[in-house]
Amino acid sequence: MKTVDELAASLGPVLFRELDLWRVAIPMTEPFRISSGEVSNKEALVVRASDGTAFGWGESSSMPGSFYSAETPDTCHQELVGRVLPALAGRAFRSLAELNEFLKEFTPAAFVRVAIETAAWEMMARGRGLSLRALLGLEERPIPSGLAVGLYDTEDQLCAAIRRWGPQPYQRLKIKIKRGQDVALVRRVRREFGDIPLFVDANADYTREDFAVLRELDAYKLMMFEQPLAKHDLEASAELQRQVRTPVCLDESIESAEDARKALDMGACRIINIKIQRVGGFLEALRIAEVCAARGVPAWMGTMPELGIGSVQAWMLAAHPAFQFPSDVESSARWFSDDLVQPALVVSSDGCLHGPAAPGLGFEVDRAKLECYATARAHFS
Ligand code: MG
Repeated sequence: MKTVDELAASLGPVLFRELDLWRVAIPMTEPFRISSGEVSNKEALVVRASDGTAFGWGESSSMPGSFYSAETPDTCHQELVGRVLPALAGRAFRSLAELNEFLKEFTPAAFVRVAIETAAWEMMARGRGLSLRALLGLEERPIPSGLAVGLYDTEDQLCAAIRRWGPQPYQRLKIKIKRGQDVALVRRVRREFGDIPLFVDANADYTREDFAVLRELDAYKLMMFEQPLAKHDLEASAELQRQVRTPVCLDESIESAEDARKALDMGACRIINIKIQRVGGFLEALRIAEVCAARGVPAWMGTMPELGIGSVQAWMLAAHPAFQFPSDVESSARWFSDDLVQPALVVSSDGCLHGPAAPGLGFEVDRAKLECYATARAHFS
């Protein structure tokens, strides 16, 4: 099997004859709250790239208020409309690899690059009449899905939310924690829901001063501690991993394959959460998956969560053998009052997503809905 770099170098030319952008806002079914902020209206930037024959869709899905990343829908919108799309319109690249190099030089914003890069991959797939998975050489397989729930004011509200959305048919449960809302939450969830596959995500809220809390959590048979510590403090993460049996999983810390190699070399984690949005596209996401596969380190596919385009992209990539835990890709109706893709995503009763093998992402975007939810749009050719 080719490496993803060999594949990207072999696919081209990539011509951007037309580029369209929609900024959309779709109400969420409930606010999503993590240790550093909250969102109740899903904003995303949707890009459609066309070379005159084939086309592809991309999504930029940062969170508002810079509580996950420095990038927000506002900064990504400005960067795409003000710089990136005008620079790309009418331009051709010899290959996806060359496009990727250009984008990395042109903008440091991963949440901007991802919208272009993923659209270009789908355009290559559709141009060849292939599904994205077939283009990537990935086997079709059911993708196990996990339920994620945010923070709530009370333990009763958290348990009600878990019951509202699951835990069945999902194959595991992830809850958000933060300092002061941790051990009691986990104890309550264990008491209410028993020995289900469970883990916690702190979104970088803890420090070395909190190791005692994390050692206490070590007793609850959690699948992992996701991003307990600050994103750049890999030394602390390695120290924590020496003190606990529960595997540490890194999310925010890993922005590239280089970051993944460094973190694993240091013993800073035993599991990696790969998000296509955070790393700027399919190429870097698969480079990280290749690092994990080569070292026998399990990965899993995380989400922001994205709307349907980004979610389907994550689902397609999760077929890579490096992804060994249930993904964060859930049914469209879990988070969003509506979705842009046809059909909407539905997790089956076996807790998996079963996909079509049609060309590209295998889903079509509903243009009427796109226009209906658009708060801004732009066209470049
Ligand atoms: Mg996370």
